[in-house]
Amino acid sequence: MTRLSAATVTGVVASLTERGLVREAREAAGPPGIGRPHVPVDLASDAVVVGVHIAVPRTTVALLDLRGRIIAQRQDPHDGLDADTVLPALAGRIAALRRQHGARRRVIGLGVATGGWVDTANGTVVEHPFLGWRDVRVGAVLGEVTGLPVRVDSNSRALLRAEQLFGRAAGRVRQSAVHLFVGNVVDVAFAAGGVVHQGPRSAAGAVAHLPVEGCVEVCPCGRVGCLQAAVSERSLVRRALAAGLIDRPEIGALVDAAEAGLAAATALLQERARLVGRAAALLLDLFDPEVLVVAEAGANRLPDSLATLRAEVAARSSAGVEVTETVRASSFPGNVLAAAGGAVALHQVYAAPPASI
Ligand SMILES: [Zn+2]
Repeated sequence: MTRLSAATVTGVVASLTERGLVREAREAAGPPGIGRPHVPVDLASDAVVVGVHIAVPRTTVALLDLRGRIIAQRQDPHDGLDADTVLPALAGRIAALRRQHGARRRVIGLGVATGGWVDTANGTVVEHPFLGWRDVRVGAVLGEVTGLPVRVDSNSRALLRAEQLFGRAAGRVRQSAVHLFVGNVVDVAFAAGGVVHQGPRSAAGAVAHLPVEGCVEVCPCGRVGCLQAAVSERSLVRRALAAGLIDRPEIGALVDAAEAGLAAATALLQERARLVGRAAALLLDLFDPEVLVVAEAGANRLPDSLATLRAEVAARSSAGVEVTETVRASSFPGNVLAAAGGAVALHQVYAAPPASI
């Protein structure tokens, strides 16, 4: 498959074994009568990464193995939103999770995903409007307290890497893909030929203020019609609370209510799916990707929401694509935040395995 010689593959495997990333498995019989017996190799099961996600209401800290499987995770609300409160609290939660679940495992990296404008090269959150952060050196601070190599990236780029590495359509995603993340923050990432576009300022993918027909909320930027103001979780949760549809301020509660058959909850999520579908149609026509992945709480869990989103894309896009094939929900429903942080670290491991672990 790699078009490399057997000798080269043996050399590469030896190097990966030295780094503790692969292990020899039990010997298996090779083809009868020729050569040495085959020695199967497998990914090392004790090598893990820490995945961190910083959202507006809470942080998520997870341990993931090399296959991107979540071993353990915890979510904690913020005690305060300023970076001087959030980052030390995060460091404590990372240490606690490592003590509880990482004692017999080797932690080889730390990945952080968050919304807003993230400069990956410098490990800096340039601007996160909802947290009120500007030029916060997340990578340097967490690297110092944990002693781990740290990489920081945006929600959408992180989740696009997760789809490339472990997603249900990974092969097609590696050809070309657009990822649309819809949480409190709305952002987009684009990849072609397996490479996620970063841009010279790490600023690609800002679609918060994309004008979309049917968006009627007033945006903090002063205009009416911006995508993020209409579909962000905080906007939806506020409306759901006001209408008495949920009793806790979480998007998950609204999806639970819709799943339990509450018609007004379903209607709110359907409206969101239509607006997100309009934005998705614009992105599809702009990039013509092999796959367009939408990480949105409703479409990820409710088949009707995904169907509405796809129908809106089909009606609005001029690309004439087969929407069931092209427009997909996230491969990580219920775990997008842990998957995002983990993928930032695992991308680094797979792209350039650390020399000594
Ligand atoms: Zn705006």
